[in-house]
Amino acid sequence: MRDPVLVINCGSSSIKYALVPEDPALPRQSGLAERLGGNDARLKGVDADGREFSQPLHGADHAEAMAVILERLGGPPPAAVGHRIVHGGERFTGATRIDPAVLRAIETTGALAPLHNPANLVGVRATLALFPALPQVAVFDTAFHQSLPPRAYRYALPQHLYAQHGIRRYGFHGSSHAYVSGRVDHLSTRAHGGWLVAHLGNGCSTCAVWQGQSVDTSMGLTPLEGLVMGTRSGDVDPGLHAHLGRQLGWSLERIDTLLNKESGLLGLSGISNDMRRLEQAAAEHHPGAELAIEVFCYRIAKSLAALSCSLPRLDGIVFTGGIGENASAVRARVIEALPHFGLRLSATANAETVGGQEGRIDAGAAGPELWVIPTDEEGQIAFETRQLLSETPA
Ligand code: ADP
Repeated sequence: MRDPVLVINCGSSSIKYALVPEDPALPRQSGLAERLGGNDARLKGVDADGREFSQPLHGADHAEAMAVILERLGGPPPAAVGHRIVHGGERFTGATRIDPAVLRAIETTGALAPLHNPANLVGVRATLALFPALPQVAVFDTAFHQSLPPRAYRYALPQHLYAQHGIRRYGFHGSSHAYVSGRVDHLSTRAHGGWLVAHLGNGCSTCAVWQGQSVDTSMGLTPLEGLVMGTRSGDVDPGLHAHLGRQLGWSLERIDTLLNKESGLLGLSGISNDMRRLEQAAAEHHPGAELAIEVFCYRIAKSLAALSCSLPRLDGIVFTGGIGENASAVRARVIEALPHFGLRLSATANAETVGGQEGRIDAGAAGPELWVIPTDEEGQIAFETRQLLSETPA
């Protein structure tokens, strides 16, 4: 299958797309339709000639926006569509060709991801209506972590909550962790070893990978567990919910909004969820920004240290995501907070490896390696779509 794969990532009011050619050296057409349903809906992107464009969509819904996206695509038409689906539950352990039964199963799994799966499905339905003859594949954020052993995925809760309601840790950012760990296995001489990956974007998660398989990860039943994120709290005492309910009379919806939208870097700093803004403010000694960055880095180090227990051997740590790829000061602070791991950061390589560069940032001693690898979730989704269709042609 040599033609490009169209990758679709559909949110509740947005569609992100990329037309991914098989040859990674070729440019990609890509874009984002946002604020769908609103009067200020807009499509921005890069066309087949590499030119940026922006056009109003005037209240367009997902199906209308998808039709405009398809009209805009130039060059060879896609051979298949790969959809990012957030939650695959325990049923989906890898990329899966979409048919009516799979659609129903994704709908059922929606109970575990009520904010994400229904929005993803809107994109699937709109694309199926426009491209009835094209093979369409679902690639799940959770699938890469289906290799976790029970000791990593079970919560210490009564068994029936797991058996009857699927309450367990699933993990997310699977396409990113799969891509980055695959890439480091390819680049490093310690191929197929033990890696800790820190994906630090607006959402943040860590993952321990042993011989290409995820063995533990920081996100859980939902993407709220684990690290401090842009607006998400990450781990808090589970007793907090009852405390806020009893003491402040807060509803579950109120607490959910607090933990998902008002916490994390934004809550701690009181000014922003954006690391660039916080680094500027911290340079001017804003106490909230300084504290937010300190807690953020400490919690990453703590999570990496905890996940290292799942690896027989630690070959290295990889940073990715908007913060992991660019914020060299954050990387340095995380490494500094792990003094007993024998890590040796090269200050020069660390400072120079920013802005989408891939490379090693350790000082080359015998200890674990340190890497920065820009993530490519769209590329991974296209790769898995291609691989599935070549193994099981229609
Ligand atoms: P998403 O999870 O939405 O895909 P990204 O992976 O793009 O997000 O990461 C967004 C985060 O990356 C923001 O906090 C942003 O401030 C941070 N970031 C991007 N560039 C830089 C930079 N040069 N220095 C520090 N942080 C950066």
